Amino acid sequence: MPLTESDRTFHAFFECNPQPMFLLDVRTFRYLAVNNAALDLYGYSRREFLALRQTDLRVEDQAAQLQDDRLAIIHGTKKHFQDTRHRTKSGAILDVELDLASVFFANRDSVVVVVSDVTDRVKLQGELQYQAFHDGLTGLPNRALFTDRVDHALARSLRDGRRLAVLFLDLDNFKAINDGLGHPAGDELLRTVARRLAQQLRAGDTAARFGGDEFAILLENLTEPSQVAHVCERIAAALRVGCHIQGTLVCPQVSIGVTYNADGSSAEELLRNADVAMYQAKANGKSCFQVYEPAMHQRVAWRLQVESDLRRALEKGNLRLLYQPVFALPSRRIVGVEALVRWLHPVRGLILPLDFIVVAEDTGLIIPLGRWVLTEACAQARRWQQEIAGADDLNVAVNISPRQLEDPVIVDDVTAALAASGLRPEKLVLEITESILMRDVAAATMRLTDLSDLGVKLAVDDFGTGQSSLSQLRRFPVDILKIDKSFVDNIDHDPLASNLLTVVAALGESLGLDVVAEGVESEAQGRVIERLGKLFVQGYLYSRPLDVAAMTVLLAEHSLVQPRRGNSSPVDQQSLQRPLESRRPARDRR
Ligand code: C2E
Ligand code: MG
Ligand code: MG
Repeated sequence: MPLTESDRTFHAFFECNPQPMFLLDVRTFRYLAVNNAALDLYGYSRREFLALRQTDLRVEDQAAQLQDDRLAIIHGTKKHFQDTRHRTKSGAILDVELDLASVFFANRDSVVVVVSDVTDRVKLQGELQYQAFHDGLTGLPNRALFTDRVDHALARSLRDGRRLAVLFLDLDNFKAINDGLGHPAGDELLRTVARRLAQQLRAGDTAARFGGDEFAILLENLTEPSQVAHVCERIAAALRVGCHIQGTLVCPQVSIGVTYNADGSSAEELLRNADVAMYQAKANGKSCFQVYEPAMHQRVAWRLQVESDLRRALEKGNLRLLYQPVFALPSRRIVGVEALVRWLHPVRGLILPLDFIVVAEDTGLIIPLGRWVLTEACAQARRWQQEIAGADDLNVAVNISPRQLEDPVIVDDVTAALAASGLRPEKLVLEITESILMRDVAAATMRLTDLSDLGVKLAVDDFGTGQSSLSQLRRFPVDILKIDKSFVDNIDHDPLASNLLTVVAALGESLGLDVVAEGVESEAQGRVIERLGKLFVQGYLYSRPLDVAAMTVLLAEHSLVQPRRGNSSPVDQQSLQRPLESRRPARDRR
C-alpha cells in the first residue's frame, strides 16, 4: 500500500526522530507504536516491545507510582513525569523523564510518550550530592550532613524524650605523625581512625569527619549517662591499639569533648559546646574526655584571644624578659640568671607565662616565641659579661617547653642564638621540665644529646614533680637539677621535706650535678637550706625576677661572679660575712 502524506509525516516525525518515543493506548495501556530510537534505548525488537505491558518497563518499586501516573494520563492532568525509572531488556535501570501529548491514533485515545534518558545526569547529581555531604578521604558524613542528622535527632528527642550526646574528637598527636611520616601516612592514619570510630558505634549512631584531624560522633537513644563514657573509653582503646603505617607503629590518641542535649538546644550549640569541652580535655592533659560545662566557654574565649593577641605581641615586640638571679651557697654569689618571659599586653597589662605558654605550645607559637627568648637572653647575658666587671662567667638559663624540644629546629635556634650573641655555649643553660624526659625517653635522649653536643648545659626544671628517679636521669646528659618549689615550701617545718632535699643535694653532688633549690621565700627556709652546704638557690628571699635595669644594678653591686664549682676566693670569703639583707633591696626594686 502506498504511503499517504500523513503516513510520511508520521514516519518523519516519529520513526526517524532521534528522541525515543512510543505511543500508548490510554484505555488498555498497551503500546501501539515505538520508534527506532526507543528500541535502541530499551534493547527490544519492535515485536518484543509492542508485546510488553507498561509494568514491564517500570522498575518494581515504582508500582504504586505507576497507578497514580495512569490516572493522571487518563484524566490528562499531567504532561511531564520526572523521577521515573525504566528497565531495559538487559535489566539495566534508566532514569528517564517523560513528556506526554494526547493524540488520536488508529482510532484510539492515545498518548505520544517522549522519553529523555537522564541516567547520566541523575548519577552525576547523586555523586555531587554525596560529595557535598561526605568527606572525600574517609567517606564519613561531613559537617553539613552531621549537623542535619543532629537536627533530626533533636526533633526526635523532643518527641520521645530520649537523650542524645554529641562528641567532638581531635587527635592529639596527628601533627607530629603527619609532619614526621608525611601526608600520605597522615591520610592513611585518618582513614584508619575513621574506620575504627565507625566500628565502635551502634547502627543508629553517626560518625563524621569535619576536616583535619577533627571528628564528631552523634549518639542517639541514650538510656543512661554511663553509655557515653563507655563509648569514649572504647574509642580510646580501639585507637590505642595502634596501626602500622608505612612500617611504623602509630598509636593515635584522642581528646574528646562531650555534650548532651538540653531542651531547646540547637545542633549548632551542641557542636560548639562539644568543641569547647574538647579544648578543655586537651588542656587537662590530652587523651581524655571531658563533659561540657558552661564555665568552659570563658576559658576557651580567653585561649582564642590569647592566640591572636600573642601572634601580634611577637610581631610588635611586646614581650619582655625578666631575670631572676641564681645564687651559690655558701658564698651567696650570683652565678647566673634565669630568663622569665613576660607579656606586656596593651589592654590587659602584664601577663605571666603560666597564662600564655600553654596556648603558645598548643598553637605552635612557642617556636618563634622560644626563639625570641633564646636570642634575647643570650644577647643580654653576653652584654652583662662584657659590661660588668667580674661578670664574664655569668650564665643564663632559658626555659624550653616540651613542644620546642619535639622540633629539631631547636638545635638550629640555639646555635643561632649563641652565634649571634657570642655567648660561650657552656654559659647557656637550657631548662627542661622533668615530665618530658619521661614521656618519650628515646626521642628526648636524642635531642638532648644534640643540644649537649653544642656545649650548652642542661637543667631539669621542677625536679621532684615528675616520675623520674635520679638513676633514670643518668641516661640523659643533664648537668643541673632544679628542685621544685613545692619541696622547698615545707623544709622549715617538715623533716621529710628537708631530708629529701639533703638526699637530693648529696646524690646530685655524687653524680656531678649542680643542685638548685627553687622558690626559697622565707628566712626560715633560707636557714635550713644554708645549712645544707653546697647548693644553689633561687627565690624571692634572695631576689625577685628583675628587669634588665634592676638586674644590671644588682650585678654591678655584686661585681664579681664566681665560677659555679670554683673555690672560694678571698672576695668570696668577704661576701660570706655580708648579711643577706644587703641583697634585699633587689626585692624591693622589682
Ligand atoms: P620555672 O622555670 O620553674 O620558673 C620559676 C618560676 O617561679 C618563675 O615564675 C618565678 O618568678 C617563680 N619564682 C621564683 N622564685 C619564687 C619564690 O620565691 N616564690 C614564688 N612563689 N615564686 C617564685 P614565672 O616567671 O611566672 O614563670 C613560671 C613558669 O613559666 C616557669 O617556671 C617556666 O616553666 C615558664 N616560663 C617562664 N618563662 C618561659 C619561657 O621563656 N619559655 C618557656 N617555655 N617557659 C617559660
Ligand atoms: Mg625554669
Ligand atoms: Mg622551676
